[in-house]
Amino acid sequence: MITYFYVEPKNVGKNFLKIEGEEAKHICLVLRKGKGEIIEVVDGEGIKYQVLITGTGKDWVQGKILTQIRKENEPLTHLTLAQALIKGLRMDFLVEKITEIGVSSIIPLIAEKSLIKLGKDKKEFARLNRWKRIAISGMKQSLRSRLPQIQKPVLFEELLATIKDYDLALIACQTKKSIRLRRIKEIFGLKRRLKKILLLVGPESGFTQKELDQAFQAGIIPVSLGPRRLRAETAGILFSSLVLYELEDLG
Ligand code: SAH
Repeated sequence: MITYFYVEPKNVGKNFLKIEGEEAKHICLVLRKGKGEIIEVVDGEGIKYQVLITGTGKDWVQGKILTQIRKENEPLTHLTLAQALIKGLRMDFLVEKITEIGVSSIIPLIAEKSLIKLGKDKKEFARLNRWKRIAISGMKQSLRSRLPQIQKPVLFEELLATIKDYDLALIACQTKKSIRLRRIKEIFGLKRRLKKILLLVGPESGFTQKELDQAFQAGIIPVSLGPRRLRAETAGILFSSLVLYELEDLG
């Protein structure tokens, strides 16, 4: 089985790189790899290295870079999922799954009806760090080379103010206006470029009518994921998968 290891980009030099901490312990103590062996390492910024181990210590592994490949196993379209904050383990699960599927950026969204509100305290920091660790392990598991960006939580209005940064924005909701996802290709066809797409998914109790109206006014297209009401994390995972599928990246 292929195994990828993670190196922090700051620890990559011209010809050598250094893996530190838990990742290094895992390589040396658990997998018992040592000098002279070749491993595959990703930097989370889109580069995969083939590395010859030249030295190991208690919590570090140093190696010589043999080859490097750019953007291996990365989708052509940069997909951002703005997911309204949901409770603990459900959000962890979502971060893991959408990393595997190929989402490039995750925005924790503070919606009006979010049951969880992240304050500006230490807990917020701890959750962001935890999601980053989950994303790193999801990236390695799925043999990606780019680590999804875990952005700082934003308010709904703050997100709307950034809409112009995307080529297309879609919001998952079950309204009369919602188009069926299977029609999404028609919309793709109307756009000249689709480098960056934003998806929005609501919290457990959904978006408020005010939020939906604001989104429609901002030009975000309402999309239905079918007649069944899905849990927020199911909606986030399914929405990302189906859009990547329609972009011909999945399946
Ligand atoms: N009680 C809420 C349900 C929220 S489900 C309500 O009636 O609105 C959580 C989120 O998942 C929703 O805000 C929406 O973004 C998404 N979602 C769930 N099922 C969906 C479906 N069938 N189509 C589109 N979006 C859906």
